[in-house]
Amino acid sequence: LSGDKEQLSNTEKEIERALRPLTFDDFTGQDKILENLKIFVQAARQRGDALDHVLLHGPPGLGKTTLSNIVANELGAGIKITSGPVLDKPSDLAGLLTNLQEHDVLFIDEIHRLNPIVEEYLYSAMEDYKIDIMLDSGPNARSIQIGLNPFTLIGATTRAGMLTSPLRARFGINARLEYYDAELLATILRRSAAILGTPLDEDAAYEIARRSRGTPRIANNLLRRTRDFAQVKGNGKITVAIAEMALQALDVDQNGLDEMDNRILSTIIEKFKGGPVGISTIATACGEEAETIEEVYEPFLIKEGYMKRTSRGREVTEKAFKHLGILPRHRSGE
Ligand code: ADP
Repeated sequence: LSGDKEQLSNTEKEIERALRPLTFDDFTGQDKILENLKIFVQAARQRGDALDHVLLHGPPGLGKTTLSNIVANELGAGIKITSGPVLDKPSDLAGLLTNLQEHDVLFIDEIHRLNPIVEEYLYSAMEDYKIDIMLDSGPNARSIQIGLNPFTLIGATTRAGMLTSPLRARFGINARLEYYDAELLATILRRSAAILGTPLDEDAAYEIARRSRGTPRIANNLLRRTRDFAQVKGNGKITVAIAEMALQALDVDQNGLDEMDNRILSTIIEKFKGGPVGISTIATACGEEAETIEEVYEPFLIKEGYMKRTSRGREVTEKAFKHLGILPRHRSGE
């Protein structure tokens, strides 16, 4: 249930595809970003230019991939999808770039994890729609320059801070996706339930929405699981009682924190007296990757006011003590 892309079965993948919005009008929330993108897409189309390169950042599951597909669709262009860690050598990138049609979108997920050599090739591709390709090696080595069709690179990252400045500077459009509030997630859930043909009570939609960590991917996952409970334990309709039962079974607590959120908070409190403590120490104590804690869990815990980052490390707040039913005076020296 984490915000990470999980391993899905084929049916689940089909469901995910069916739930994915395809046009600007289908996409809920992120109003400011959407309004701007609509203008930039329309202007590029009117001029007959490729859209400027776009950088999308923000926590996983908020719609970066979805939005990239929508942009390509609204441009009337094709899209090629890859990710930073997959592009091992410059030739992998060259292969993709030379196959792009005019105005196509190249989507690179996790762009902060590009190999530096590959990244360097990307610079001239982004700037001049040209790449230098090395032919042969050793004494016969020579490079030739290849012109590319004008294209749009859309880079997605959970860690905008980890992008090198030369790469960041080459994006003309830069947008940060925000967590969704419960109203927006309820709207997304109603749309998803309608596509799945599952009756969903209004208060149940709101209950799932408010416990989905502000994340559409999690909301949709919880909806699918709740639908299973409705089918087996109820009459197929998702009522608030069914939603409560499913959420409890899935270890999503009353405030919408999942098992790992709670483990992180209780570890900081019980093992480190509430902090401050370094992220790698927390990670080891929780048995989770530091990177995952930083990208997936921490941003939400900070936004909800359970935790804060200080110069000396991570600290939990009063709210975290209250949430776990532990008295803050147990903190050392207080
Ligand atoms: P990211 O690339 O940021 O990790 P995705 O674009 O893969 O996130 O979105 C995750 C899932 O959430 C998608 O399957 C999509 O159906 C759904 N989703 C994301 N944003 C929205 C939205 N604004 N409206 C409806 N569904 C959304």
